[in-house]
Amino acid sequence: MPAPVVDWDAWTEQATRWLSEYVRIDTVNPPGNEWRACEWLGAIFDAEGIPYRTFDPGNNRLTLVATIPGDGSRGKPLILLSHTDVVPFERDHWTVDPLGGEVRDGYIWGRGTLDMKGMGIIELVTFLIHHRDRLNLKRDLVFMAVADEEAGSEFGIEFLDREHPEILEADYVINEGGGGSTEVLGVERNTFNIGVSEKGPLWVTLRAQGRPGHGSVPHDDNAADRLVRALRRVTEWQRPLIPGPEVKEYFQQLYEAGILNREPTMEVLREIAETNPRLRSVQMNSISLTMLNAGVKHNVIPATAEAMLDVRLVPGYDPDRFVEELRTVINDPRIEIERVFVSSTPSSPLDTELYATMAREVRRVFEDAVVVPSVSAGFTDSRRLPPSRGARLRLRADAHRPERAGTRARERRAPVRREPASGHADPAPRRARHLRLARTRVSLDRLA
Ligand SMILES: [Zn+2]
Repeated sequence: MPAPVVDWDAWTEQATRWLSEYVRIDTVNPPGNEWRACEWLGAIFDAEGIPYRTFDPGNNRLTLVATIPGDGSRGKPLILLSHTDVVPFERDHWTVDPLGGEVRDGYIWGRGTLDMKGMGIIELVTFLIHHRDRLNLKRDLVFMAVADEEAGSEFGIEFLDREHPEILEADYVINEGGGGSTEVLGVERNTFNIGVSEKGPLWVTLRAQGRPGHGSVPHDDNAADRLVRALRRVTEWQRPLIPGPEVKEYFQQLYEAGILNREPTMEVLREIAETNPRLRSVQMNSISLTMLNAGVKHNVIPATAEAMLDVRLVPGYDPDRFVEELRTVINDPRIEIERVFVSSTPSSPLDTELYATMAREVRRVFEDAVVVPSVSAGFTDSRRLPPSRGARLRLRADAHRPERAGTRARERRAPVRREPASGHADPAPRRARHLRLARTRVSLDRLA
């Protein structure tokens, strides 16, 4: 079937307007107020004549779901998943209003432009183009905008998984977690990561008990001292690199693309890990000490002391096994190890139609692009989409120059496609910054 003519410039303008508006809707979580986003999205669907449902966990933390029905002959739905909430911000660290949605210098500025209202708008536009073209889809195409991803998902994907598991039934889900860059391992090259896996969080609290007392009379049962001894063992614990199959495949493909100039042996992976914190993290069980709690007064020996560890396990690693290892390392029965949050994301297979389509379409837009499978050091709502519900693939639609993305570490902005005054397209290295709206559309035709 020939691809219908799509006016990409008009859609880009529309999408820019929408993203700017979407950023202005305050969905900072906590408290979330995601109903505002659903109301705004609902008005767009109303205008398009598309029916939708909202799901309320009882406190207005709404999730919105709209479906373009297909005949089902190719299988279960393809879900375009996004979350509507954003994380809080420190106003003092921004030069623009984080909720202003300002469009300036070819960027849309604001909280959520990257995580992940920008991708939400790309999914919205993709969905609407399919609706307007009235194609005969071979499976349902679902637009799903969920609440509460940034604060544990209790009122979002966890609620849906518990109360409405049927709406998560799908062969494919496209979600956040992939990425694009114009540089990888010091080599200038458009590189796109299709996220196929995520590390699993294992958040633990270490709790030391001891005997309280007066600071003027030290004794050897001080809870804070005990905790410090335990933390010293934890921070000095040398854990091995354990790259999983997806990570090995990532490096192998970088090698085959000529970006990594040596075969990815363990020795080479170790060298990379030494200088690249992110690529070290995806290869090992990592521990970040994030919070400490002890004491009530400068001259009082505390009875308890606590440390919070943000542990992230490589995909497939057994949390029980890790806690036992941690216990052995700490080697103190009077340190309690409490699990606060444990989760894992099943890996998506690489040999799927969706993966192949994504890789092909990226190369069609960026001819020289390298497309590789990747493991994310963070985690997303994808963890609630187990294998029985099909593959989860994540791909962000734009590539960023790392040095630009890092210019103002706390500020966020998404690039807008913008032609220079001459009317000619930007030269090759810069075009990577353009938001390529809804180019996935043709791909989705073939899948849906
Ligand atoms: Zn996100």
